[in-house]
Amino acid sequence: MSLVPCRACGHKVDTSALTCPECGATDPGHKISRQQRNAIGFFVQLAVILALLSWGSWYVWNTVIPKARELITKPAQEAPAASRQSAQ
Ligand SMILES: [Zn+2]
Repeated sequence: MSLVPCRACGHKVDTSALTCPECGATDPGHKISRQQRNAIGFFVQLAVILALLSWGSWYVWNTVIPKARELITKPAQEAPAASRQSAQ
């Protein structure tokens, strides 16, 4: 139980107070509101997801696609000349 100045109006409020009794600000004892914290958490998750997606697409582009292309083109090279024209 300690009193801190409200983030919005400076009125002394308890750190555990959900709203400021003076101005009604949410989480007055914290530097950022719960909504801001949720928004930051959301953007952190978004950044992690985007990083994973970009890494995943890079990985697919550089390892899976060349391997798949190899698998697709190899049988064509062994096949007779008639079916080879699509590969080259
Ligand atoms: Zn206040």
